Amino acid sequence: MVGNGPLVVFGSIVQDLISYTDRFPRPGESVRGHHFLAGSGGKGANQAVAAAKLGTKVSMIGRIGNDMFGDKNLEGLKKEGICVEGIEKSNSVQTATATITVNKEGENSIVVTLGANMELDDKAAERNEEIISKAGLLLCQAEIPDSGNKRAFELAKKHGVTVFFNPAPGDPNLDKNLLKLVDIVCVNENEAEFITGHPLNSVEDAKKQALEICKFGPKSTIITLGAKGVVISENSTDPKHVEVSRVEAIDTTGAGDCFCGSLAYFLLAGKSLEESTQKAAQVAALSVTRKGTQASYWSSNEIREKYP
Ligand code: ADP
Repeated sequence: MVGNGPLVVFGSIVQDLISYTDRFPRPGESVRGHHFLAGSGGKGANQAVAAAKLGTKVSMIGRIGNDMFGDKNLEGLKKEGICVEGIEKSNSVQTATATITVNKEGENSIVVTLGANMELDDKAAERNEEIISKAGLLLCQAEIPDSGNKRAFELAKKHGVTVFFNPAPGDPNLDKNLLKLVDIVCVNENEAEFITGHPLNSVEDAKKQALEICKFGPKSTIITLGAKGVVISENSTDPKHVEVSRVEAIDTTGAGDCFCGSLAYFLLAGKSLEESTQKAAQVAALSVTRKGTQASYWSSNEIREKYP
């Protein structure tokens, strides 16, 4: 189902800037923060890091600004052993940022400025055709223009590369025609609702919606359900529920990205879609037991040490 090449992630890179404070400031007001964290993020980069930590070869295609945040994110990806040959620097727009405020109730308020990610368009996909052509699997998300994803999918098809799409974050205006070019789609409950147009409240709903989503084009649909695990319909048939072990959830941020990156790793390691789903669900469950996003992802060594 997948090729022998590396995982190619065509997607977003975002600098997260997180301030922890007692309460959100009102308009015009300034409040004191008691803690600050800067972290590397973006769904593309998160998924690339999750896969690289498990040990697969990853190549990332993305765009950053010619600025401090861009350099920092690039270094972070290199440290994980990710090939950054396909990451371009924009001279006109800054690296994407997410300015996040977290109050003492743990609620957050976020402003995302997509910056250079919005230049990851059809032309950017074409400039990186060679990297895409050599992929064992192409993995994309929806924090970049639809035109970029569409062209990346078309190029992947041209070269016989399997396409794995995670249309996240959910967007009611997603161009559903994109799904016609996709082999495997993975969504959470919210993103599934945007595609099907109706509420998803149970595992049974997820099974029905997985089949419905396959009708838009993907051969296989995966719906992640947080602590309730995952529903998978392989080749548009017989939806199955995969449960996950109960864990003490500390921070679920980035669990979906961990799942997608891990699934890509197991597929490239030659496992079936169903087995890859089961294993990726367990790796994603581990990630929620630690704080942070990329920092919460487990490496294969850590997993082996804990579960020999
Ligand atoms: P997203 O982050 O996109 O909302 P989910 O919340 O559906 O994604 O989580 C993705 C996967 O992470 C789940 O399918 C599951 O494997 C794991 N996961 C998430 N939350 C929990 C939890 N509380 N307990 C165990 N596993 C979890």
